[in-house]
Amino acid sequence: MAEITQEDLTFDREHIWHPYTSMENPLPVYPVASADGVRLKLNSGQELIDGMSSWWCAVHGYNHPVLNQAVEEQIKNMSHVMFGGITHKPAIELAKLLVAISPEGLDKVFFADSGSVSVEVAMKMAMQYWFTKGQQKKNKFLTIRSGYHGDTFNAMSVCDPVTGMHEIFTGVLPINHFVTAPQCGFYDDWDEKDILSMKEAITLYQHELAAIILEPIVQGAGGMRFYHPQYLKEVRQLCDEHNILLIVDEIATGFGRSGKLFACEHAGISPDIMCVGKAITGGYMSFAATLANQKVSAGISQGVPGCFMHGPTFMGNPLACSVGVASINLLLQSDWKRKVDSIEEILNEELKAAEKLAQVADVRILGAIGVIEMKEAVNMAQIQKQFVEAGIWVRPFGKLVYIMPPFVISEKDLRTLCQAMIEVVKKQ
Ligand code: PMP
Repeated sequence: MAEITQEDLTFDREHIWHPYTSMENPLPVYPVASADGVRLKLNSGQELIDGMSSWWCAVHGYNHPVLNQAVEEQIKNMSHVMFGGITHKPAIELAKLLVAISPEGLDKVFFADSGSVSVEVAMKMAMQYWFTKGQQKKNKFLTIRSGYHGDTFNAMSVCDPVTGMHEIFTGVLPINHFVTAPQCGFYDDWDEKDILSMKEAITLYQHELAAIILEPIVQGAGGMRFYHPQYLKEVRQLCDEHNILLIVDEIATGFGRSGKLFACEHAGISPDIMCVGKAITGGYMSFAATLANQKVSAGISQGVPGCFMHGPTFMGNPLACSVGVASINLLLQSDWKRKVDSIEEILNEELKAAEKLAQVADVRILGAIGVIEMKEAVNMAQIQKQFVEAGIWVRPFGKLVYIMPPFVISEKDLRTLCQAMIEVVKKQ
């Protein structure tokens, strides 16, 4: 495709909405001409080391020959065909893989078009499960503060009401219940007081709760926090004791990012419903899935109307499924665990130095995720420009400057990325 011109950029500024920006006073955007490996290539010819994996997706880096081949081969067969009344090999292969690698019992797969949609599907499944059991009152959700689950309406209703980016919609969202976010960090000693507010909320609301929904271990866009595995273990137990379903949102954490294939594995639990997205796509096209166990699928299917009432146009898109199969196989065939562990080690060596900086409130690292929490919210346009000048792509929000690089990043590039990140942080 032809180069991006100045005229194109003016058109973009005047006509195209970018994520979380104003149409009147948009933040600057950087024209990317191509991407390869862990580098984004700007129109100007400058190359940036990617610290974001395009928001957790591109775990194998960009322009990967194996993923390219999967798309090319599939497109010669069919790029899309409706999923109603039809099935195809890419969907079957992907579902087989998901069932094989996901936590025990999750063996029914619903393909969705994006992470937010997979969360909608999960919440709808939980509600329909109780409806078919004649328990219409069990239609609310309980979650923890500092969470993020997507931008559609039900997903917004369980995002943190303040940090979850949807505060202005509070009055019109479905009303759900929140408890304080877990305070025990991933590496802290477990303090059983941490689960008390969850216990209290369950006692208070159990009769109207369809499910508890949370991100397992790593809270992403709502605060970049890592909490104690025992918390998740106790939540699973409480759900079982009080007849509440458990939905985990592994959209950001799934496929190795936290050091386990799924973050649930840190706690050795299996949820009733699980959402996966982002890394499943290899960074190629929008796609996600909602997995359910036999209890949920049977509950929905054996009741009235006996069908799960959801079926998007692009459900099970063969191109997305093919690249999903290739992406998961690539991950499983790579020594991903050693790679993520070594990224974690380097992040610890390089980023911990930032703890001493006056501007920095906290530094935390888990798996291939490194977070520098600032004392003040950053000036986005300014810091973004400084990162680009430093040759790296990092996109902070609020007080959080964080990276989750592609797993294929070399040690040298990772150290350069971290060191440049700290130099920029020092200037704030
Ligand atoms: N859940 C979590 C934990 C996420 O991080 C995100 C995306 N940031 C979503 C849901 C929503 O996914 P999508 O943007 O694909 O709709």
